Amino acid sequence: MDKIQMKTPLVEMDGDEMTRILWQMIKDDLILPFIDLKSEYYDLGLKHRNDTNDAVTLDAAKATEKYGVAVKCATITPNAARVKEYDLKEMWKSPNGTIRAALDGTVFRAPIVVKGIDPNVRTWKKPITIARHAYGDVYKAVEIKTDRPGKAELVFTADDGTVTKEVIHEFDGPGVIQGQHNINASIESFARSCFEFALETKQELWFSTKDTISKKYDHTFKDIFADIYEKEYKAKFEQTGITYFYTLIDDAVARVMKSEGGFIWAIKNYEGDVMSDMVSSAYGSLAMMTSVLVSPRGVYEYEAAHGTVQRHYYKYLEGEKTSTNPVATIFAWSGALRKRGSLDSIPELEEFADKLENATIKAIEDGFMTKDLAAISADPNKQVLNSEDFIKKIRENLE
Ligand code: NAP
Ligand code: MG
Repeated sequence: MDKIQMKTPLVEMDGDEMTRILWQMIKDDLILPFIDLKSEYYDLGLKHRNDTNDAVTLDAAKATEKYGVAVKCATITPNAARVKEYDLKEMWKSPNGTIRAALDGTVFRAPIVVKGIDPNVRTWKKPITIARHAYGDVYKAVEIKTDRPGKAELVFTADDGTVTKEVIHEFDGPGVIQGQHNINASIESFARSCFEFALETKQELWFSTKDTISKKYDHTFKDIFADIYEKEYKAKFEQTGITYFYTLIDDAVARVMKSEGGFIWAIKNYEGDVMSDMVSSAYGSLAMMTSVLVSPRGVYEYEAAHGTVQRHYYKYLEGEKTSTNPVATIFAWSGALRKRGSLDSIPELEEFADKLENATIKAIEDGFMTKDLAAISADPNKQVLNSEDFIKKIRENLE
């Protein structure tokens, strides 16, 4: 069989721990036998990030900007324990944070729905896609912890010298203070990414913030969305037969729980982080979720939404064959290959991506699955496989 040829390289970002092991298995068994893979490889494993003083992360982001499509493995975000474990020169920043800041745009996360694994929320019939703003707020906040009384102020000094000041609080004892920011240009590209994605996938778009309490910060998000919708998207939405609607975040949460699914829910950075874990867990598992960062310049980075599955990795190091779910990582590859195929007009590559996803879903619907899914599957004949055997099952289907 002739392997599928590619035109433009895919930016490949390798990662850490158990997902790094899965990464190699997926490439060896599901990608390389079928595709003459053209990729520009960046090793974002923690050791190499440390060796390069984290330059490799920025290089990978730049390459993504250049080629337009990347696929990323889960990576460790260092904390104090990791600094010790890997003897790090510094507590390097979250690679996802660095890449998101460099590419801007929005992270879209949607559950992978399979028969036999029913959502915990009975009314959910279709996937709910979370659109998470990927810049600013608490992720770029500065904080002060004070051990004594004093006055906290918010000060803005404009380039022309004018000063705007607000008293945050007069402390009569110890306390904490936080300063957050966002940028109109980033909120605008968030809005456009969401409107574009809604049109592309023909789904309703919801957007929610806490504008009643945050009358300047959150209200600006609401106004920017409303403005761009009116000026640039209203007509297109009406033509496509989809709707955009804004509601308060608490109202949105209540509506989501009673909905049928099948829409995009746009939210700010923190809510997106939290709600995507809630939605994916309710649909089954963190490992059954696709995640793609879409930049306003039309650059795409596909990844799994879960972490490096450290607990399984330590078992793997002891020689145990773990039953770690590779589905989200497989879908990161299929998503990236499909997008590369569509940008480069290679229909075989797009078809391959569909086949890879169908082969994966078929394995689960035939009753072959990893431990996390078996725990929630309604299939009476289900069989728990380790990662390697599960991937082999997918390979059989693919063949
Ligand atoms: P995690 O890797 O998401 O795993 C937490 C738990 O969730 C696992 O112990 C496992 O539960 C379950 N789980 C997650 N993914 C699974 C999969 N594919 N198959 C089966 N079970 C799965 O989170 P963590 O252990 O808190 O974090 C580990 C490292 O990942 C951290 O260093 C963190 O910085 C990093 N992280 C990276 C990303 C990213 O790069 N996108 C995202 C989040 C976290 P059981 O142990 O009960 O089986
Ligand atoms: Mg999170």
